[in-house]
Amino acid sequence: CLRIQNLSVKIGNETILNNVGLHVHCGEMVALIGPNGAGKSTLLKAVLGQQAYNGVISFSTPGQRHRKMIIGYVPQSPNFDPGDPITVADLFACCMSKRPTFLGLSKKMRNNVISCLKRVHGEDLIDKRIGTLSGGELQRVLLALALEPLPNILILDEPLSGVDVEGMQTLMDMLDEIRHTYDLSILMTTHDFGMLNTYADQVILIDRDIVCQGTAKEVLESDDFRRVFHRKGGAI
Ligand code: ADP
Ligand code: MG
Repeated sequence: CLRIQNLSVKIGNETILNNVGLHVHCGEMVALIGPNGAGKSTLLKAVLGQQAYNGVISFSTPGQRHRKMIIGYVPQSPNFDPGDPITVADLFACCMSKRPTFLGLSKKMRNNVISCLKRVHGEDLIDKRIGTLSGGELQRVLLALALEPLPNILILDEPLSGVDVEGMQTLMDMLDEIRHTYDLSILMTTHDFGMLNTYADQVILIDRDIVCQGTAKEVLESDDFRRVFHRKGGAI
């Protein structure tokens, strides 16, 4: 579904990513892990076309190589002002409609927003202010936004940070349900290694280049994993 070959990113004189190669298969959930500053977000931005790179990033679906893909993206820790009067409905209207949001939502648009939120079981959040949502609720709303239009691949940058343990479980179950229902691939970064065994088909440990990849068990029990996180005093 997504193939990355010889990907290198240089910012100024610093090499952020060096000769990275990976493959996200169709329908697969792939977790990208690594210490802070390892280049995880940079890699996702390169895939999104927001970061200049050398190398090859290509997409394909069975029978349709190099087709233009729709990518759904949930960025890392977006900040919303708690006092901001924007509601969830307003946010969707800003993204989905040309009509100025301050004029209010048409009935049709409101129904569209409800349909989008239903994908994440979040219809009841429609009139809540964005700044008052819990970490888990905000991630669900951003996920619903990333699913409109339905993407071929969903990219999430640390969706579990700022989410409590119960919210994490809900979100991961939801992502699992979504990828099966809509048959899409998911590439996500995380520091929450506890859920990798249950949910990730493939885990990739990155630290400027690919250190190790395989099943969750293979990566979490590897010497590379111990070395990278012990040396860097990373996220565990
Ligand atoms: P991660 O997401 O794994 O924590 P990032 O991809 O955000 O890591 O960053 C990797 C490295 O690249 C860091 O050292 C960061 O400071 C550097 N970096 C990222 N974006 C920029 C930028 N726009 N300008 C300069 N350095 C950057
Ligand atoms: Mg990051």
